[in-house]
Amino acid sequence: MGYEYNNGKELSCLECGTEFYGRPDKKFCSPVCKNKYHNREASSVRHTRNYIITALQINYNILRDLLREGRRSASLQDLAIRGFNPGYVTGHSAGKCGHNEYSCFDIKYYQSSSKVFNLRRAI
Ligand SMILES: [Zn+2]
Repeated sequence: MGYEYNNGKELSCLECGTEFYGRPDKKFCSPVCKNKYHNREASSVRHTRNYIITALQINYNILRDLLREGRRSASLQDLAIRGFNPGYVTGHSAGKCGHNEYSCFDIKYYQSSSKVFNLRRAI
């Protein structure tokens, strides 16, 4: 038993594009290219994850600061100026009274088309 060598057809390395012969399912010309490719993929995932974590931290700090200022509501425009991105939350549900309820870690709020309100700590 051995490897089939793809009927003599050349394969193209996913990393460097070099043509090579090998098993039909082989994707890289060498372990170096395989590592380069997978490291870059992992780096991209790390970058995306870090971007989301940072967005959540910024949102959390803005909401925390509003609570410290004694505020329980803010316009979305005011929040945007502070750097709040409503696309990054840690929870969402249809709250009471038909309002969309969101959470960013332990801070909860309702959001309408123009503002957030009933800002509060969940705990
Ligand atoms: Zn290669």
